[in-house]
Amino acid sequence: MNVPLLDLKPQLEPLRREIIDSVTQVIDSTGYILGPAVQKFEEEVAAYTGSRHGVGVSSGTDALLASLMSLDIGAGDYVLTTPYTFFATMGTILRTGALPLFADVEPGTLNLDPIQAEEVLEQALKRGQRVKAILPVHLYGQCADMERLLALARRYELPVIEDAAQAIGAEYPFEVDGRVDWRKAGSMGIAGCFSFFPSKNLGGIGDGGMITSSDDDYADILRYNRNHGAEPKYYHARIGGNFRLDAIQAAVLSVKLRHLESWHAARRANAATYRLLFKEAGLVGQPVELPSAAFSQVAGADEHNYHIYNQFVIHVPRRDQLREHLITHGVGCEIYYPLCLHQQECVSSLEEVSRQSFPVAEQAAASSLALPIYPELNPEQLAYVVETIAGFFR
Ligand SMILES: *Cc1c(COP(=O)(O)O)cnc(C)c1O
Repeated sequence: MNVPLLDLKPQLEPLRREIIDSVTQVIDSTGYILGPAVQKFEEEVAAYTGSRHGVGVSSGTDALLASLMSLDIGAGDYVLTTPYTFFATMGTILRTGALPLFADVEPGTLNLDPIQAEEVLEQALKRGQRVKAILPVHLYGQCADMERLLALARRYELPVIEDAAQAIGAEYPFEVDGRVDWRKAGSMGIAGCFSFFPSKNLGGIGDGGMITSSDDDYADILRYNRNHGAEPKYYHARIGGNFRLDAIQAAVLSVKLRHLESWHAARRANAATYRLLFKEAGLVGQPVELPSAAFSQVAGADEHNYHIYNQFVIHVPRRDQLREHLITHGVGCEIYYPLCLHQQECVSSLEEVSRQSFPVAEQAAASSLALPIYPELNPEQLAYVVETIAGFFR
């Protein structure tokens, strides 16, 4: 049997006609730059995430970069973030001239640990370092512990930029007056950064991104900055960039957004099936650690943090050998991520960044393995993945 890590074809097939029609409309409209298709999709994503504004940008990376630039973050500044995420989180901080200030992640969710974050922040402030923002990542599609991170941010009056690139539609529960108030990823900080890279839960037919915000003034600055900081046209009070979302991507993404909830549901059902199968195979805990949820009273369940499973990541001993075993037997898998950010070569000469150690993140980098989780997988495929893993550990 063959189980690819991701197959986009079964998602495309039923939408093919509608997607092609939406592209044809953009072509025929000749409104190619920030036209009605972009505005419509911005409004849809803002409504979907529960934010006042959506600002379409060229990628998730540019969403992060424009968000940081729009807070006037630059040389001499620090941004508190996680060392275990996709490179863009750190790459954009460095591109503004600022430096990342890392705190270790929580075991289990691998999201920024609020307790570690507080310690690191306090020490940095004592050293007189200018910390300008907190940038948590909702890794694999599960929200970071935003209640505690937002409380920390409020205490130090720091803006929070959410890297929600993997987490569109993920939800986090706040307790308000004894009842639960669910908030969507990207609506909790001053900015939510989304990516529509094809492998995300909502993926375009190329690159694309979005910044959500409920701060009117900040949203204005984001709009100027995605278009070279111009306001009005040809008058530049700021230096932005060309970070504009392409109209064709916006049109396609509008079509796909209508199906996003059903895709989340299918991914979540696949995750539940995996949990059951791994349990039946007697692999849970030893040797396979399943993805865990931060706020759950029930270990392994995730109803207290609506996880959209952009990735289903297990942790195993002999990870590299298991990976080869799976690939040999037709099961796609990938390591997200094999190195922590402070271990990347491009920062090796920045001793302040590289001369640190984050044991939880480093352990994750040595043991993590992402399994196929895309919506259209069938039960036989899921069973085959688990059987193949069981075979390896037998
Ligand atoms: C995908 C991703 C990005 C970057 O998005 P692009 O659209 O590929 O530029 C940033 N951060 C995280 C956590 C991501 O997963």
